[in-house]
Amino acid sequence: LSHPLAAYRQTQARLRDLFASFTAEHCPTCPHPCCRKPVRVGPVDVMLAEAHGMEMPEGADPASERVELGTRYLSEEVPEGCGGDVPCDFLGPRGCTFPRDLMPYECTRYICPIMERELPPGQLRIAKRLVRRLDDDYRKLKDALRPRR
Ligand code: SF4
Ligand code: SF4
Repeated sequence: LSHPLAAYRQTQARLRDLFASFTAEHCPTCPHPCCRKPVRVGPVDVMLAEAHGMEMPEGADPASERVELGTRYLSEEVPEGCGGDVPCDFLGPRGCTFPRDLMPYECTRYICPIMERELPPGQLRIAKRLVRRLDDDYRKLKDALRPRR
Protein backbone atom coordinates (compact mmCIF):
# COMPACT_ATOMS: atom_id res chain seq x y z
CA LEU A 1 0.00 0.00 0.00
CA SER A 2 2.84 2.42 0.75
CA HIS A 3 3.86 2.80 -2.89
CA PRO A 4 0.49 3.91 -4.42
CA LEU A 5 -0.12 6.22 -1.46
CA ALA A 6 3.35 7.77 -1.79
CA ALA A 7 2.83 8.33 -5.53
CA TYR A 8 -0.61 9.87 -4.92
CA ARG A 9 0.76 12.24 -2.27
CA GLN A 10 3.67 13.22 -4.45
CA THR A 11 1.40 14.13 -7.38
CA GLN A 12 -0.88 16.09 -5.04
CA ALA A 13 2.12 18.03 -3.71
CA ARG A 14 3.29 18.79 -7.24
CA LEU A 15 -0.15 20.13 -8.18
CA ARG A 16 -0.25 22.29 -5.04
CA ASP A 17 3.18 23.71 -5.86
CA LEU A 18 2.09 24.43 -9.41
CA PHE A 19 -1.12 26.17 -8.32
CA ALA A 20 0.40 28.06 -5.34
CA SER A 21 1.10 31.39 -7.00
CA PHE A 22 -2.18 31.30 -8.95
CA THR A 23 -4.29 30.66 -5.83
CA ALA A 24 -2.45 33.36 -3.85
CA GLU A 25 -3.16 35.87 -6.59
CA HIS A 26 -6.67 34.96 -7.76
CA CYS A 27 -8.59 33.04 -5.06
CA PRO A 28 -8.91 35.85 -2.46
CA THR A 29 -10.79 38.02 -4.97
CA CYS A 30 -12.57 35.27 -6.92
CA PRO A 31 -16.16 36.25 -7.85
CA HIS A 32 -17.33 32.60 -7.74
CA PRO A 33 -15.16 30.78 -5.16
CA CYS A 34 -15.18 27.00 -5.49
CA CYS A 35 -14.84 25.92 -1.82
CA ARG A 36 -18.59 26.05 -1.27
CA LYS A 37 -21.16 23.47 -0.16
CA PRO A 38 -22.10 20.89 -1.26
CA VAL A 39 -18.50 19.69 -1.49
CA ARG A 40 -16.96 16.76 -3.31
CA VAL A 41 -15.29 15.12 -0.33
CA GLY A 42 -15.33 11.32 -0.47
CA PRO A 43 -14.89 8.64 2.19
CA VAL A 44 -11.40 7.74 0.93
CA ASP A 45 -10.35 11.40 1.23
CA VAL A 46 -11.60 11.57 4.82
CA MET A 47 -10.12 8.19 5.79
CA LEU A 48 -6.66 9.10 4.45
CA ALA A 49 -6.65 12.56 6.03
CA GLU A 50 -7.83 11.27 9.43
CA ALA A 51 -5.17 8.55 9.32
CA HIS A 52 -2.66 11.39 8.91
CA GLY A 53 -3.91 13.45 11.83
CA MET A 54 -6.74 15.60 10.46
CA GLU A 55 -9.74 16.11 12.75
CA MET A 56 -13.17 16.33 11.16
CA PRO A 57 -14.64 19.84 11.69
CA GLU A 58 -17.67 19.90 13.98
CA GLY A 59 -20.91 19.40 12.07
CA ALA A 60 -19.21 18.35 8.84
CA ASP A 61 -21.16 15.70 6.94
CA PRO A 62 -19.47 15.26 3.56
CA ALA A 63 -21.34 12.01 2.80
CA SER A 64 -24.73 13.77 2.91
CA GLU A 65 -23.34 16.61 0.82
CA ARG A 66 -22.27 14.17 -1.89
CA VAL A 67 -25.78 12.76 -1.98
CA GLU A 68 -27.18 16.29 -2.24
CA LEU A 69 -24.72 17.15 -4.99
CA GLY A 70 -25.67 14.02 -6.95
CA THR A 71 -29.36 14.87 -6.64
CA ARG A 72 -28.77 18.43 -7.80
CA TYR A 73 -26.72 17.27 -10.78
CA LEU A 74 -29.45 14.86 -11.78
CA SER A 75 -31.95 17.69 -11.70
CA GLU A 76 -29.41 19.83 -13.62
CA GLU A 77 -29.55 22.44 -10.87
CA VAL A 78 -25.80 23.11 -10.61
CA PRO A 79 -23.26 23.37 -13.40
CA GLU A 80 -20.10 21.31 -12.89
CA GLY A 81 -17.54 22.97 -10.64
CA CYS A 82 -19.84 25.51 -8.97
CA GLY A 83 -21.17 25.27 -5.48
CA GLY A 84 -23.54 27.44 -3.50
CA ASP A 85 -23.01 30.33 -1.09
CA VAL A 86 -22.10 28.47 2.10
CA PRO A 87 -18.35 27.90 2.62
CA CYS A 88 -17.10 24.32 2.87
CA ASP A 89 -16.77 23.04 6.46
CA PHE A 90 -13.11 22.22 5.75
CA LEU A 91 -12.22 25.77 4.72
CA GLY A 92 -10.09 27.47 7.37
CA PRO A 93 -8.65 30.99 7.62
CA ARG A 94 -5.62 29.87 5.64
CA GLY A 95 -7.40 27.72 3.08
CA CYS A 96 -8.23 24.03 3.00
CA THR A 97 -7.61 22.24 6.31
CA PHE A 98 -6.90 18.86 4.72
CA PRO A 99 -3.23 17.85 4.76
CA ARG A 100 -1.52 19.65 1.91
CA ASP A 101 -0.74 16.46 -0.04
CA LEU A 102 -3.94 14.63 0.90
CA MET A 103 -6.62 17.06 -0.15
CA PRO A 104 -9.85 15.60 -1.52
CA TYR A 105 -9.21 14.00 -4.88
CA GLU A 106 -11.95 15.88 -6.71
CA CYS A 107 -10.92 19.24 -5.22
CA THR A 108 -7.31 18.63 -6.19
CA ARG A 109 -8.06 17.72 -9.78
CA TYR A 110 -10.34 20.71 -10.42
CA ILE A 111 -9.00 23.24 -12.90
CA CYS A 112 -11.36 26.19 -12.66
CA PRO A 113 -12.33 28.45 -15.59
CA ILE A 114 -10.10 31.26 -14.24
CA MET A 115 -7.11 28.90 -14.21
CA GLU A 116 -7.96 27.86 -17.75
CA ARG A 117 -7.90 31.52 -18.71
CA GLU A 118 -5.04 32.91 -16.62
CA LEU A 119 -2.44 30.17 -16.26
CA PRO A 120 0.37 30.46 -18.80
CA PRO A 121 -0.18 27.79 -21.50
CA GLY A 122 2.92 25.78 -20.53
CA GLN A 123 1.85 25.68 -16.90
CA LEU A 124 -1.70 24.71 -17.84
CA ARG A 125 -0.39 21.82 -19.94
CA ILE A 126 1.71 20.57 -17.02
CA ALA A 127 -1.28 20.93 -14.68
CA LYS A 128 -3.48 18.83 -16.96
CA ARG A 129 -0.75 16.22 -17.28
CA LEU A 130 -0.46 16.07 -13.49
CA VAL A 131 -4.24 15.75 -13.16
CA ARG A 132 -4.12 12.73 -15.48
CA ARG A 133 -1.35 11.28 -13.34
CA LEU A 134 -3.40 11.97 -10.21
CA ASP A 135 -6.35 10.09 -11.76
CA ASP A 136 -4.06 7.15 -12.39
CA ASP A 137 -2.50 7.29 -8.90
CA TYR A 138 -5.95 7.47 -7.32
CA ARG A 139 -7.19 4.47 -9.28
CA LYS A 140 -4.18 2.43 -8.14
CA LEU A 141 -4.61 3.61 -4.57
CA LYS A 142 -8.28 2.58 -4.51
CA ASP A 143 -7.34 -0.82 -5.99
CA ALA A 144 -4.78 -1.27 -3.22
CA LEU A 145 -7.34 -0.31 -0.57
CA ARG A 146 -10.01 -2.68 -1.90
CA PRO A 147 -10.42 -5.75 0.36
CA ARG A 148 -9.02 -8.96 -1.19
CA ARG A 149 -11.36 -11.96 -1.38
S1 SF4 B 1 -12.82 29.08 -8.72
FE1 SF4 B 1 -10.61 29.20 -9.18
S2 SF4 B 1 -10.00 31.28 -8.68
FE2 SF4 B 1 -11.97 30.91 -7.73
S3 SF4 B 1 -11.51 30.26 -5.64
FE3 SF4 B 1 -11.70 28.42 -6.90
S4 SF4 B 1 -9.60 27.95 -7.61
FE4 SF4 B 1 -9.64 30.08 -6.85
S1 SF4 C 1 -12.29 20.23 1.05
FE1 SF4 C 1 -10.78 21.86 0.93
S2 SF4 C 1 -10.38 22.18 -1.26
FE2 SF4 C 1 -12.26 20.98 -1.07
S3 SF4 C 1 -13.92 22.45 -1.12
FE3 SF4 C 1 -13.39 22.14 1.03
S4 SF4 C 1 -11.87 23.67 1.55
FE4 SF4 C 1 -12.02 23.58 -0.69
